[in-house]
Amino acid sequence: MKKIILTLACFGFCGVSSGQDPAGQTIRVGMIGLAQDGSAPASAKELPRFWKTRLEHVEATVRTLKKGTMSVLTETPGKRNVYLVTYGAAEDRRGTANYNSAVGGRSPFSYARKDGTQKPVVFLLGPVHGQEVEGIAGLLNLIQIAESGRDLRGRQWDELAANLAKCRVLIIPCGGPDARARCPYDSWVGVDYPVHERIGMGTRPDGSNQTWPSVKRIHPMRGPQVGTLGAYWNDSQVNLMHDEWFDPMAPETRAFFRLARDEAPDYIVSLHSHAATPELMQSAYVPWTVKETLKTLGDRLQKRYAAAGLPHRASGTEPKVDGKTFPPPHFNLASALHHACGAVAFVHETPCGLRTPPYPQVDHDQLLDLQLLLYDELFRYAVDHPVNWLADNRSTAP
Ligand SMILES: [Zn+2]
Repeated sequence: MKKIILTLACFGFCGVSSGQDPAGQTIRVGMIGLAQDGSAPASAKELPRFWKTRLEHVEATVRTLKKGTMSVLTETPGKRNVYLVTYGAAEDRRGTANYNSAVGGRSPFSYARKDGTQKPVVFLLGPVHGQEVEGIAGLLNLIQIAESGRDLRGRQWDELAANLAKCRVLIIPCGGPDARARCPYDSWVGVDYPVHERIGMGTRPDGSNQTWPSVKRIHPMRGPQVGTLGAYWNDSQVNLMHDEWFDPMAPETRAFFRLARDEAPDYIVSLHSHAATPELMQSAYVPWTVKETLKTLGDRLQKRYAAAGLPHRASGTEPKVDGKTFPPPHFNLASALHHACGAVAFVHETPCGLRTPPYPQVDHDQLLDLQLLLYDELFRYAVDHPVNWLADNRSTAP
């Protein structure tokens, strides 16, 4: 039974893939912002001041930038703005071909001129799933660090701020505003699993929760099998993790791809949450070299989490050869973004503090540290390992 519950949590909350048993790595702490019996959202007064996850928090943050630049990337089907915040000037690295053709010509450099001397580009795509609010809190705190060197708790992040300043940084604080608007919860600390499942996945016409994996067998999420719409989807009922990549249904998806093609990021993170321990996930259908980088990053990150006394796994997730078993892995947003620009693109899953055993019990401070340590490690790695697409250039080979 336990195994079944764990599987549902890892796969169900986000629909990406996982499978590592987090048992034995849980840390129990006090529950700030406990939502009573878990059936009602915590009020703003019960939540820490640094825990900013609402759309109005995003609006307020992007409109008061001093160092960063704000733009509206696109408008959702629900007429909400998707904001982009950037730091660092863009370099002109534009080559002579789109990524796919450049690779066909055996020269990714022909798409973006990366020779190891350019400024790293990091693209952080905030939650596209509305109930996964933790990533918004992390990014709004990261923006505060980029602006002032301190997070919203007043904690100093000198190395992170210094490394971030050496990069071109693209931050979409909330990738799915329609979905976020449909989620009445600002925090899941102390809430029960079934409540999170209902808000995220919605209900069937008989009022029972939609559940993973059957919830993904209807897409767009409309028709007679849908009771209430959960927070996975935008207002056109599209789950942005599973759009139609070659003919996108959602304007958000088209905007993410346009941004990736224009900026040629070295790293793209799609931020998600689930109930289990944190995971820097492997992406399916990307080159083995990218999978190896994800393993290295995952190892480094889990060590940071362990050293900080946070929920963690023994190591980063091992790469796998895709499709050796049936059903095949899915070609999700992270996989697709890689193929638009060659980035090391991946999903990061954070726990969300549900009180249902056996999931890790975490408070808001810890949830924020899990986010900010990801950024600390990622920016350190990006600065220390500038991408050089000439080093492996075999374009002159027959
Ligand atoms: Zn998700």
